[in-house]
Amino acid sequence: MSSPASSGQTEYAPATAATGPRITMPVPHGAKAIVDLRGVKRVYYKPDGEILAEALRGVDLSLYEGQYIAIMGQSGSGKSTMMNILGCLDRPTHGSYFLDGKDCSTMGDEELSRYRGRKIGFVFQAFNLIPELSVRENVEVPLFYQGVRPAERHRRATEVLTKVGLEHRLGHRPNDLSGGQQQRTAIARALVTSPAVLMADEPTGNLDSATGRAILDMFDELHASGITIIMVTHDPAVAERTQRVVRLKDGLVESDGPGGKGTAGPGMEH
Ligand code: ADP
Ligand code: MG
Repeated sequence: MSSPASSGQTEYAPATAATGPRITMPVPHGAKAIVDLRGVKRVYYKPDGEILAEALRGVDLSLYEGQYIAIMGQSGSGKSTMMNILGCLDRPTHGSYFLDGKDCSTMGDEELSRYRGRKIGFVFQAFNLIPELSVRENVEVPLFYQGVRPAERHRRATEVLTKVGLEHRLGHRPNDLSGGQQQRTAIARALVTSPAVLMADEPTGNLDSATGRAILDMFDELHASGITIIMVTHDPAVAERTQRVVRLKDGLVESDGPGGKGTAGPGMEH
């Protein structure tokens, strides 16, 4: 990391102090923060305790229910590290993370994974489907972990796969599907639990541009139906579809402002 703020500095410093510009995004009136990071750092250590990387260096960020938010920034800026914390796949090494009002940074592994299962649907760049399972079985997995009975699992998985246009592929294995169909399956798996927020890390990164656009159209529809979406992306075109764009640089929020649909308050148009 090259910015002066990173040189030997270990104490928490607000993003604004390190990067200069004031955070411009106003707090939307009456909105509920679904995600709230307070002084979040994520330091990666070597086994001997030496610091390997400070991927996040003190992030304060509140994201509001009903919005479509893009997280952008150059490779290595900390986007995946942040999304993994937001998605409860990882914890901050310093600071607090509140998800829908509950502090995730102090939860034990089991409590965190249960809470994650209830609140978050996560879509990965590489789909992360289980090759041995059928499309419908893949979508049933999160319901299985919630103890939902088989008949109800089948019903809900079929319903959400129909919603993403895959009702004719229920019994196929993921490897028999195109990339776009695999990502639709992963989106169905993320939605089947009716999560409070849909998170995605570069969901179009492994797709050709036409297929990627079709997946982004699907995210637009999901947002229009009232779902909160937080998406990491390299694609500047995505920013036009969102209400808010948060840019990371060297592990800090560099800028935070409206996206192409950014004038409305969160969920105001629904
Ligand atoms: P982005 O997703 O924006 O490309 P990452 O969050 O993957 O950025 O990485 C941010 C920084 O943290 C980089 O310097 C990267 O090398 C480092 N980093 C990420 N994951 C690890 C890890 N598991 N171990 C050590 N360093 C890591
Ligand atoms: Mg990344």
